[in-house]
Amino acid sequence: MDKWQHTINKTISFAGIGLHSGNTVRMSVKPADVDTGISFFRTDLGRKVMIPATLYRVSDTRLATTLAKDDVSISTTEHLLAALSGMGIDNAVIELDNDEVPIMDGSAAPFVQLLKKVGRKRQKAARVMLKITRKIEIHNGDSMIIIEPYDGFKVSGEINFSHPLVKKQKLSLEVDAETFSREIASARTFGFLHEVEYLRQNGKALGGSLDNAIVIDQSEILNSEGLRFSNEFVRHKLLDLIGDLALLGCPVLGHVTAIKSGHGQHLQLMQAIADHPECWQFIKWTENGANSAFEKVVMSTRAAGNKILPFFVPPQVLPVPNSTPLPA
Ligand SMILES: [Zn+2]
Repeated sequence: MDKWQHTINKTISFAGIGLHSGNTVRMSVKPADVDTGISFFRTDLGRKVMIPATLYRVSDTRLATTLAKDDVSISTTEHLLAALSGMGIDNAVIELDNDEVPIMDGSAAPFVQLLKKVGRKRQKAARVMLKITRKIEIHNGDSMIIIEPYDGFKVSGEINFSHPLVKKQKLSLEVDAETFSREIASARTFGFLHEVEYLRQNGKALGGSLDNAIVIDQSEILNSEGLRFSNEFVRHKLLDLIGDLALLGCPVLGHVTAIKSGHGQHLQLMQAIADHPECWQFIKWTENGANSAFEKVVMSTRAAGNKILPFFVPPQVLPVPNSTPLPA
């Protein structure tokens, strides 16, 4: 994994609609200074409101990952965050003139394409990484999420739907810019037709269409172009997982296994990581010496983490995220 922090060489811009709100949105992703992480700004409110991309700002995980500060929110953050994390961007400022990241084609590919076009810029500061040293495991009914020690960043996912076109799919992947861009980035979000109809009646998925989601009815895939991968569904689940884990605020050295999980479980895992400093350490590359060995710079306490990673500290008391599932 890269030892230096990176931002992007120049600003990139997107325009599109929000999957759930149906709102038109313009978005820019801009270069940012070292140690500032990823932060979102709403520019349409008469005042500039900043919401850092951190797990402590998650306000809703039911259909997408929504971040909020006071009464201001930004939803469907996960595909863009996956693109930034997958392509190794540590610091960036994201400006939006509405309340939802544009869904584009339902995947992270349009973001990755422009990120690649402008390229990464190496910055003069070493990365801080969160190295998992002990296993953390969370079970909820038949869903499960685990993070365990691993020398790199690896994700494994499994889904199991009763639908004949989806069924059981499994995939395990060592994540770097190349594998992310090749294997994960273009996997689209998906939904079942009866769910989409229910969501529409409840004022959600208003921007959804066959241009930005795979839609499946009882027996077939409604998109005329078909699937991009035979197991596109589990690939998209891994995309969501990578995007949500970016809310830890720094790269992770560990292996995450997610079985039948969603945004709510991803958040639970991050909260468990934050609550169990005995299960990880912050580490940083040495900046001098030719042997480029890892050096532990900070012991694993949240207070110590704050000195080098400001977003890892909870900002006072925030409301409990709303993770109650919508009725099926
Ligand atoms: Zn998604």
